[in-house]
Amino acid sequence: MESDLLRLDELLAKITAYAPDADVSIIRKAYYFTQEAHCDQRRREGKPFFSHPLAVASILADMHLDCKTVVAGLLHDTVEDTETTMEEIIEIFGEDVGFMVSALTKLKQMEFKSREDTQAENFRKMFVAMAEDIRVILIKFADRLHNMKTLRFMPPHKQKLIAAETLDIYAPLANRLGMGWLRAEFEDLGFKYLHPEIYEDLYNKVAAKRQMREDFIKGLADIIEKKLSEHNIPGRVSGRVKNFYGIHQKMQTQRITFDDVNDMLGLRIITQTPEQCYIILGIIHSLWMPVPGRFKDYIAMPKSNRYQSLHTTVLGPGAERVEFQIRTEEMNLIAEKGIAAHWLYKERGHAIEKKDSKYTKWLRELVHLQKDSKDAREFLEMFKGEIFSEVVFVFTPAGEIRELPAGATPVDFAYAIHSHIGNRCVGARCNGRMVPLKYQLKNGDTIEIITSTTHSPSRDWLNFVVTHKAKNRIRQFIKVEQRKQGIELGTSILEDMLIRNKIKLAMMKSKKMQETTAQLNYKTFDDLLMAIGYGKLSARHVVNILSPENKGNKEAREEPKPGKAQKSNKGVQITGVDNLLYTTAKCCFPVPGDNIYGFITKGKGVTIHRTECHNFKRSALLDENRIVTVTWHSEDNTTAPAKLFVETMDKPGMLAALTNVITGFNINLSHLEARSSADKHAHFVFILDVRDKLQLMNLSSKLMSADGVIGVGR
Ligand code: MN
Repeated sequence: MESDLLRLDELLAKITAYAPDADVSIIRKAYYFTQEAHCDQRRREGKPFFSHPLAVASILADMHLDCKTVVAGLLHDTVEDTETTMEEIIEIFGEDVGFMVSALTKLKQMEFKSREDTQAENFRKMFVAMAEDIRVILIKFADRLHNMKTLRFMPPHKQKLIAAETLDIYAPLANRLGMGWLRAEFEDLGFKYLHPEIYEDLYNKVAAKRQMREDFIKGLADIIEKKLSEHNIPGRVSGRVKNFYGIHQKMQTQRITFDDVNDMLGLRIITQTPEQCYIILGIIHSLWMPVPGRFKDYIAMPKSNRYQSLHTTVLGPGAERVEFQIRTEEMNLIAEKGIAAHWLYKERGHAIEKKDSKYTKWLRELVHLQKDSKDAREFLEMFKGEIFSEVVFVFTPAGEIRELPAGATPVDFAYAIHSHIGNRCVGARCNGRMVPLKYQLKNGDTIEIITSTTHSPSRDWLNFVVTHKAKNRIRQFIKVEQRKQGIELGTSILEDMLIRNKIKLAMMKSKKMQETTAQLNYKTFDDLLMAIGYGKLSARHVVNILSPENKGNKEAREEPKPGKAQKSNKGVQITGVDNLLYTTAKCCFPVPGDNIYGFITKGKGVTIHRTECHNFKRSALLDENRIVTVTWHSEDNTTAPAKLFVETMDKPGMLAALTNVITGFNINLSHLEARSSADKHAHFVFILDVRDKLQLMNLSSKLMSADGVIGVGR
């Protein structure tokens, strides 16, 4: 065996240093077992393959993890890459180790298939395995870390792929699981291979001033240590420079040069109790001026990965910005080890308590929800959204605290409480005041959800909700609803077409219709109706197959006969169809009272246009079969957006005069554009939420009569 391999006694010494009473015989067994299994294999760099699982085990030992994890780390590639079988592993090393190795084997098998398609699926599998036993991800982390450290032996294009994946997934995941040191390592290694030139440049710049910075930090640490002992407060002070990727990101987001990155320096003070943290904060603020807006109390409000600490930035000596992190030993353990803290080797009688299962709760929820997401890619998107997000803390009316990702809205909150509440949510009160459903929650808000049993989720909600749970539930609801509406609309269109071709409606339920359905490759008649409703299939085509003699018999469009059942519903209605799925066109902004037509748009249901709309006329020429007759059904409390063009003399106070008129009508103004033209005229475009055409006409004539107005139009 080559001499630079970690010897068994070295690995065992590492483990017994933190686990003096551990039974290491299982490690010894796994060491020899793995060595033999991989005996004739070599790594790309020429080393025996065994060096890899050994390095992974060593990283796991550095993380002070329990023996079974280290054993599974040694064995992680044996089943996939050697003759070893799962049965052997379970027989020799037990079920626990067996589970971990089998999960890691499955993950590895995925990696060899086409990358693009399986990457997402791979992560999904990883999550399922993780939720079962979080040690799987810890081993995967160690595996990835060693592969990143030996990445230079890979061909360049592979380096970039692996580096990007490390930055995209592994670094944020390590962060989400509270493993600060690992995130920093993943980031710097990923950065190094993804952008080698930038990395090297930064590395040299940091190196150039290293001595100066170290002296500076030493000076500060001395001052603080002296103060702490004066106040009789225990504390260790250590200094650090931000990681390279952190500096790089700062330069990117703030568009500044290296020399302008002014809080690269950080000091960490670790003490005993939370109270002492606040006292130390006071001492630091009395020594140096704090930078406003930079103080963060993550002790009172921990981050979602359970990170706790006080952060503050001060103007230190020479007006140099320095960031301080103040925390207790316990907080430090969680900040560095995160979820791994749960699996630290536990000395007999000194078991580290599993504080709460917050990490695993988050994971389990995510895994539970992924059953609903139809493809792995969607899941990956969801997951990425989750791991990057910061959080806000809000309260229920009963005073219970809830954690939601930043940007969350009352709808997210409602779904977080229960799907039923989300589905029935109509409004929200924030700190006693009504707020719009798209209101962004702020830390400390008390949220009360108003529900109504007759209400259902709206597609618009998807534009502002941020949690995967809300998105999922709304999509699910819409899917079911859309299908129902699609079928209804399709039925109506097909019936209409049958009537126009003088075919009996009984044909709908005939055997011939069944045959046509099969001929057109639809599983069920409902599927065929839905395709018609969505505009994917033309009703004429169906009729042509049903009754070929009608083919080419182009009959004129008829208006639907009056007197047909018109069911009452909100907004727009179409003959015979309940709850029409529609959107109003953004070209002509129809409002209740306008003469309108519906146009079946692929995948979107029906778009409502004003009859005079040019876009509509153009589309109608292309395919008149997609026109449906619709009418407004006005409901008292609904509004529709309308566009209004106003031309005025270009003089001061014009806009104020116009908006005065608008607010006089109690109309909400949601968008405004203004420009002046060469002829000294001002042109305004307003988008207004109006009740109906009458209100819009009244508003127009009032605007027209205002001083300086030349013209008003839609
Ligand atoms: Mn490996």
